[in-house]
Amino acid sequence: MAAFGTVFMPKMSLAEYKDQRWDYQQLVNSDSLNLHPGAHVLHYASTCFEGLKAFRHDDGSVHIFRMDKNIARMAQSSRLLALPPIDVTLLRQMIIDVVTAFNDQVPAPPGSMYIRPTHIGTEPAIGKAAHPTNQSLLYVLLSPVGDYFSGGIKPLKLLVEDQGSRCAAHMGMIKSGGNYASALGPILQAREAFAADQVLFCPNGDVQETGAANFILIDGDEIITKDLDSSFLHGVTRDSILTLARDRGMTVSERPLSVEELIERAQKPQTEAALSGTAAVLTPVGSLVYQGRTINVGNGQGGPITEQLRNALNAIQWGQAEDTHGWLTRID
Ligand SMILES: *Cc1c(COP(=O)(O)O)cnc(C)c1O
Repeated sequence: MAAFGTVFMPKMSLAEYKDQRWDYQQLVNSDSLNLHPGAHVLHYASTCFEGLKAFRHDDGSVHIFRMDKNIARMAQSSRLLALPPIDVTLLRQMIIDVVTAFNDQVPAPPGSMYIRPTHIGTEPAIGKAAHPTNQSLLYVLLSPVGDYFSGGIKPLKLLVEDQGSRCAAHMGMIKSGGNYASALGPILQAREAFAADQVLFCPNGDVQETGAANFILIDGDEIITKDLDSSFLHGVTRDSILTLARDRGMTVSERPLSVEELIERAQKPQTEAALSGTAAVLTPVGSLVYQGRTINVGNGQGGPITEQLRNALNAIQWGQAEDTHGWLTRID
């Protein structure tokens, strides 16, 4: 199976913003873009993106998961980056159009069709370092993905970084390319020095998230995760998992979590920790590296509640449990 995100459908939906208006060009070839080398995005990183999925149900129908949440987040990212304003009705139509066109290519579970809306500043103006682009391209790419856990679910090892940040504090809730470039150096160092899978960024001891996923701690009947503020990305999977946990009668504590409390709770035998995100859904965290010491989370193997919550979310996505929260949009 090809690596996640390396196979693309041959067409994408595309719209261009120019002269203060959107021009929807519908489906175009997805293997190239015509871009001026002076395009704003290439110099000043005026870019944001989204990641969501479409799923095939047993009856053959195709459903997109929580599309409106992702569209709203893309509009917010664009606004915070001073990119041209997203027309949410247009973006919704662009997503539906491209998924409809490739409806028959949506893999059955545990596969899915990953959907990648992307917004880039295209004005050819290298003098605009401190000014917004007045032109942009918005496009929606599709990438069919297989079973993320085909090699089995291996609990992750996270390096707890209690000084450095993933990105600048005011960029945390924006899903923007520069943030991943910013986190890459620390992640490569953590892989090299500790064979860690990811870095858990905890600036000044405040447990935030990893490079591309949110962090949750499960202690018996309680889920603890950082409350929403502008310093980190507000994951749709995070919100979905917390909702499902509340449905099951669990206590959901959205509040600041310190590294000190994390390390203390991790050492209790029943504790579990997990990363949430669209790509990997909910992945168990087996151990933490902190101050050169490796600390298992609970038994180090991931636990039953992580698995139950992941299964509950997958069951809704795959049409095997009732969609009581209205999270699915059917595509015909
Ligand atoms: C995309 C992303 C997440 C997860 O968000 P989902 O909406 O659950 O996919 C978390 N953190 C970062 C930094 C992300 O880029």
